[in-house]
Amino acid sequence: MKTDKLANNYRVESGKHFRLKDFDPADTGDRKSKEHAEEALIHGIARTAELQDKLYAQDNWAVLLIFQAMDAAGKDGIIKHVMSGVNPQGCQVHSFKAPSDLELQHDFLWRTTLNLPERGHIGIFNRSYYEEVLVVRVHPDILKSQKMPPSLVSKKIWDERFEDICDFERHMTRNGTVIRKFFLNLSKKEQKKRFLARLEEPEKNWKFSAADIHERKYWDDYQDAYEDMIRYTATEEAPWYVVPADNKWFTRLVVSTVLVDTLESLDLSYPKVDPAKRKELEAAKKLLLSKK
Ligand code: ATP
Ligand code: MG
Repeated sequence: MKTDKLANNYRVESGKHFRLKDFDPADTGDRKSKEHAEEALIHGIARTAELQDKLYAQDNWAVLLIFQAMDAAGKDGIIKHVMSGVNPQGCQVHSFKAPSDLELQHDFLWRTTLNLPERGHIGIFNRSYYEEVLVVRVHPDILKSQKMPPSLVSKKIWDERFEDICDFERHMTRNGTVIRKFFLNLSKKEQKKRFLARLEEPEKNWKFSAADIHERKYWDDYQDAYEDMIRYTATEEAPWYVVPADNKWFTRLVVSTVLVDTLESLDLSYPKVDPAKRKELEAAKKLLLSKK
């Protein structure tokens, strides 16, 4: 299987017929083992580094990668792995937790907007404005803390948020930010296994949070919210990837492949040196060679 084909299997760019249950969290495509995928992953990481160097030098495009998932789906590990070869100078990661008092004084797109990647950079959002149609939708009481004028909060609020998000992403796309969104699709069974490992293995104890177990009770509500989120915000310019997450090695391979494909689809090249600059370079070389 060619790698670009591999990523296409999980790409959703129109929500019309999207159903989460059509995607198997344990899917590994035609890759049957970690070893089978390892070589491709190493190649992907090296290729990302080469392309990122051009992205940075050219300074036209920005790339935004958004990660959303249930707890223990492996967001942190993916970010660490896939970005392991890139130059930290051209890459920023931002994690979005429950909003602060200051953040609640603003509209829901404010805090993420402040952290958008600049041209030439890769920005990673570990959670994002999509929490506004996920955790907030599953726990609508959170809406009360958002201090919205009550007359603006109606049953239409989720549709309005989907619309505003799509408009925002179209605006960003038209201005040179390429957006790729990843839903790490973990099964309930695998989440249980990973939570148990956090309880049983001392070096994983620090990752355990009682709040995560509490949220697990709302599993079905979250799955419905994720399905709706993808249905209403998957677009050709800012597609979702529903990445199987029960096998970490496969999740990493798919994300890395999408990143490489995305960078390769851009017209990346090192800036050309104009005649005046060429002359300057030649003069500098002459000067360096003429002195000790
Ligand atoms: P990890 O557990 O690996 O540290 P995490 O992303 O799960 O990473 P936590 O601090 O455990 O980090 O969780 C962040 C919490 O903040 C999540 O429960 C998330 O739903 C919540 N959150 C994020 N954005 C919002 C928001 N806009 N409104 C309310 N809660 C939010
Ligand atoms: Mg957590």
